[in-house]
Amino acid sequence: MEYDIIFIMGEVYFDHPLCGVAILKRLLEKYGYTVGVIEKPTKEVDIKKLGKPKLFFGITSGAIDSMVRNYTPLKKNREEDEHSDYDEHVPDRAVTVYSNWIRKNFKDSIMVLGGTEASLRRFVHYDYWQNRLRKSILLDSRADILVYGSGEKQVLEIAQRVKDNRNLEMIEGTCLISKELPDNFKELPSEEEVIENKEKFCDMQLMINNYTNVAQKTGQRYILQYKSPQYTTENLDEYYELDFTREIPSDSKHLRGFEFSVVTHRGCVGNCNFCALRLIQGNKIISRSEKSILKEIKSFPNKIYFRGNVDDLGGPSANMYGMDCSLRESCRKDCLNCEKLDKSHSKLLELLKKVRNLSGINKVYIRSGIRYDLAPKKYIKEIAENHIYDTLKIAPEHVDKKVLHLMNKDYGDFTEFLNFFNSLNSGKELSYYFITAHPGSSMKEAEELALEIRDLRNVSVQVFTPTPMTMSTCMYHTGLDPETKKKIYVPYSYREKKEQKRVLM
Ligand code: SF4
Repeated sequence: MEYDIIFIMGEVYFDHPLCGVAILKRLLEKYGYTVGVIEKPTKEVDIKKLGKPKLFFGITSGAIDSMVRNYTPLKKNREEDEHSDYDEHVPDRAVTVYSNWIRKNFKDSIMVLGGTEASLRRFVHYDYWQNRLRKSILLDSRADILVYGSGEKQVLEIAQRVKDNRNLEMIEGTCLISKELPDNFKELPSEEEVIENKEKFCDMQLMINNYTNVAQKTGQRYILQYKSPQYTTENLDEYYELDFTREIPSDSKHLRGFEFSVVTHRGCVGNCNFCALRLIQGNKIISRSEKSILKEIKSFPNKIYFRGNVDDLGGPSANMYGMDCSLRESCRKDCLNCEKLDKSHSKLLELLKKVRNLSGINKVYIRSGIRYDLAPKKYIKEIAENHIYDTLKIAPEHVDKKVLHLMNKDYGDFTEFLNFFNSLNSGKELSYYFITAHPGSSMKEAEELALEIRDLRNVSVQVFTPTPMTMSTCMYHTGLDPETKKKIYVPYSYREKKEQKRVLM
């Protein structure tokens, strides 16, 4: 069979709304295209097995950058890390490797990059694993176009354009290489400037977002980013209502138990500096309609392996459902500090009540983490009584005010939250995520954190990983606070990072 589109992906494919390629495949099929998928090719010959697509190859490492997948924060191979579910079949820099195989074997095919690895390497970026700046992945991969973010609108438009033999310019949510700098594009500091000058690197970091047309000169050419398209509630309803089987491969340990998870919204208003979500889904909330979510859940009892429980009802932070703002399309301010942000949780509480009252539904769990500093007491009480699976996941990340400020996480009162949760006597527990060795954290701050959390149970501590294009990675690379350009302490040595983790274990 000759497919219109072939996706090459660096992770397991599963026909479920939690799999980005599955959403794209189902959507493209709905619009009449034929779609093939090659998962985890291990050698060059593997990418030839479905032949050449009529329209394009879509290339992604999946939901995780292949370097994050293959190496621990201390740069050890994951295979040496007994705690991780390591998969040796994904090559380092998978997107570039797959692209080069395709370019070699199908010279004139159109190559479209997407997913996390491509989205976060779209401009010059700091690569922690090589400890140097690398060019845009568009140049290394010799791809035709890069889709950043979720990509549904972009791939439909690309498919139509290629089918009609039209060019790929000016597609919202994509990046291209161009010889010219178009009008109305904000120019980022050039590749040359950010390599030579760390303050320019900070300037670049502050200018990058999904909502602006920006360009970066690299040699004699420009990398152009066309601003992201506006996704709407109706769009999300359409994508998540596609007819997925929801089957999870039997060898996929991490995914089992999540077959009946439901995505309620996209985006996160948190803007944590170590997180890449701002440059993928964006920092405004887009919620699905209640009607669409209920329709999806009402279909579960038709699946023979459904046991009556909704495994998760959430998104990047489970309690941001319904925080959509009517001004989100034009407003570029930070929602977390805005009085217009609807923090009432009333839409979410209403939704939870309706879902648990549906016939055929026993339990509705919230297994996605919540942003505790946004959560009103009535919501915490409600979920503690009805919706916690094993533990309620929260991510305070640190306790030191200065480090929290550098993380953009100095909101809320952790102690007050703990006291309130414990006073509920719900019989449920919390689990906690912390980051150590983040820029600003010396041994003193690590010890302060260790002292504060010594009596907590269910604690996970990660050494900070400088993933491409985040604000915290900019701090790590430059040693500067990007906003003030003042020097900050950064733990760089293997020994200190390990020690900062050791005091916390
Ligand atoms: S007005 Fe406030 S809540 Fe609305 S998008 Fe702007 S910052 Fe966010």
